[in-house]
Amino acid sequence: MARTPLICGNWKMNLGPHAARDLARAIVHGLPEVPFGVAMAVCPSTPCLQAVLDEIRVFDRLEGGAQDCHAALSGAHTGDTSVEALRELGCAYVIVGHSERRADHAESDATVKAKAATAQAAGLTPIVCVGETLAQREAGEAEAVVAAQVKGSLPDGVAGDGVEGHGVVVAYEPVWAIGTGKVASPADVDAMHRAIRATLAGMMADADKVRLLYGGSVKPENAAELLALDDVDGALVGGASLKADSFLAIAKAAKTTG
Ligand code: PEP
Repeated sequence: MARTPLICGNWKMNLGPHAARDLARAIVHGLPEVPFGVAMAVCPSTPCLQAVLDEIRVFDRLEGGAQDCHAALSGAHTGDTSVEALRELGCAYVIVGHSERRADHAESDATVKAKAATAQAAGLTPIVCVGETLAQREAGEAEAVVAAQVKGSLPDGVAGDGVEGHGVVVAYEPVWAIGTGKVASPADVDAMHRAIRATLAGMMADADKVRLLYGGSVKPENAAELLALDDVDGALVGGASLKADSFLAIAKAAKTTG
């Protein structure tokens, strides 16, 4: 089935508000070169969200997202960010369960699931990240590890994004490919995305509507062959999203549905 590809930039803990606004502006200037039918989003760090969302608000082709949220709607959680605040700012997406957060903050699948459910209930689309470590891949456990993460990290009664209001996006990001320059082979990505789709099919009726992004050292040079794969519906892009030219080049490489 045809799914609109999503190219999403994860700016991580880079850039201050001024530089983030300038980068957003540069991306917006290049948007006319990106075919219609490719959805785009950027996820700046929390202190940069206001500046970026103000910059992109009128361009409905570029949406904003956050890199994390808390599972509670509000309360005594110093330093955390509520989905209500993100929604009020104008975020469309929130990344949850990124491997850097799973590692740095010991986030479990249950924590990620709770965050994704709260985001979804608030009208945001969670981008739920899953992915195996190198040791797990070398032990032949990659598909089992990722299947368990998908089952444990997605909210109950989940639907693909774009259906039933707000659903979920899944990002497969092998930990060993993030920020390392090592990209998973198209054959490995293809096999894993098919396996994730099969796992989703066991969880919901409309698994074919869920967008599955690949993330891990996506660059203009490797984007086209990865994005051409049947079950790859876009990319979550870290390093290469910090330059407008490379981010736009990746978006231009996406297959379109129309
Ligand atoms: C990421 O952190 O989501 C990511 C995919 O990073 P990079 O593209 O730099 O590997």
